[in-house]
Amino acid sequence: MSKEVAEMTEPQRGRGASGSDVRRVTAAVDQLLTEHNPRTTDTVEFLGAQFDRGLAWVSFPEGHGGLGVSPKLQALVNERVAGAGSPDAFMRNPLGYGMAGPTIIAHGSEAQQIKYLRPLFTGEEVWCQLFSEPGAGSDLASLATRGTRDGDEWLVNGQKVWTTLGHLAKRGMLIARTDPEAPKHKGLTFFLLDMTSPGVDIRPLYQMTGEAEFNEVYLTDVRVPDGDRIGEVGEGWRVSITTLMNERVMLGGQTPSRGSGFIGDAVRLWSESANRDIARRDELMRLWTKAEVLRLTNIRASQARMIGTPGPEGSIGKLMSADVNKEVTAFCMGLLGAEGMLKPGGYPMVRAKLSDDQSTPQQAFLRMRANSIEGGTTEIMRNILGERVLGLPSDGRGDRDLPWNKTLRS
Ligand SMILES: Cc1cc2nc3c(=O)[nH]c(=O)nc-3n(C[C@H](O)[C@H](O)[C@H](O)COP(=O)(O)OP(=O)(O)OC[C@H]3O[C@@H](n4cnc5c(N)ncnc54)[C@H](O)[C@@H]3O)c2cc1C
Repeated sequence: MSKEVAEMTEPQRGRGASGSDVRRVTAAVDQLLTEHNPRTTDTVEFLGAQFDRGLAWVSFPEGHGGLGVSPKLQALVNERVAGAGSPDAFMRNPLGYGMAGPTIIAHGSEAQQIKYLRPLFTGEEVWCQLFSEPGAGSDLASLATRGTRDGDEWLVNGQKVWTTLGHLAKRGMLIARTDPEAPKHKGLTFFLLDMTSPGVDIRPLYQMTGEAEFNEVYLTDVRVPDGDRIGEVGEGWRVSITTLMNERVMLGGQTPSRGSGFIGDAVRLWSESANRDIARRDELMRLWTKAEVLRLTNIRASQARMIGTPGPEGSIGKLMSADVNKEVTAFCMGLLGAEGMLKPGGYPMVRAKLSDDQSTPQQAFLRMRANSIEGGTTEIMRNILGERVLGLPSDGRGDRDLPWNKTLRS
């Protein structure tokens, strides 16, 4: 569970849920905590018990980690189990919990849901996302990794890049081109890849934090059983939209309590800083207001999602959270003065155990620079808002209906 989810305010937690659902969820949590003390129970055993009681993603169907109730009630669960000292399922497997789980429940077969969701939630199987390629990032649908049918299997060849936590992952969400003669969005298929398969070569990419949180992944004659295909052949784009929408919300859609998160850190550093002056105070007030507007926008977006009318707020939240995070963490560096240049732990050039480490202001400052790139760049969010909200003419997309193998690619 993310810190931000745990910090949702009381009105956000219960809204949209019936009284009987609240009682049902509360009773299930009571039972879980009575039978399994998270402080003394093995982590996997505790999370397995949480999954079995339908408290992993409460909105998922019964038997698949949920109770079929409003997703808002997840915050109630998270607050209770975190308060009792439970392990953090989200932090153990962020791409699995935030993106693979929702994709599998939306598009996976019953057998796939049974096979994958429980070990994903317990963190026994960490997931990664094999979407971006050296020649396909913003224009993801132009990707070139090939999937060729071979009996009951697919043979996959290509290169993926920026694969967060690929070095720790047991499973990967993979999109590959299975029909190069179809237009670029139509010839894609989505697979669930076993990262330990022969032919999967994972190499670290180091970031300016001194850690390799992500990787490049080479796929050479990797065999994927057809049973690990999710959705129909050629329907990979539709499936991946679910993954990407969940990624956007995961990255930019958090609704922490007022004044918490990075802006809370900034206020705390301000109160302790020797570098206080009127200009900085003015800047802090401006940032606080911006963070609060983002928080309120995200609350509105999550309400809209619940009644089934997701608006442009997802892109606004992603765009704005990148700005706010970058600005606030830079402001904190100013408050720290020369100390801001000393990163605790230095630059060890090691493989990261976590994605998105924000353990010190210096680390957070360096890590947040990537916010305007990961999960869709700020420029792309502006394009989406320009076209869909302001009705501006669209970016030239002359190759949309051309066969992919006739398009110009970088
Ligand atoms: C920290 C981090 C973690 C990541 N983790 C993963 C992961 O786990 N799995 C994964 O698959 N990918 C991951 N990514 C990749 C990420 O999704 C891509 O970096 C992103 O989509 C941008 O693609 P690109 O890097 O190829 O840049 P490009 O698409 O080449 O863009 C380069 C520049 O051109 C701009 N640009 C491109 N097209 C347009 C346009 N039409 N209009 C205006 N400007 C444009 C971009 O905004 C950018 O500034 C991660 C990236 C980062 C930074």
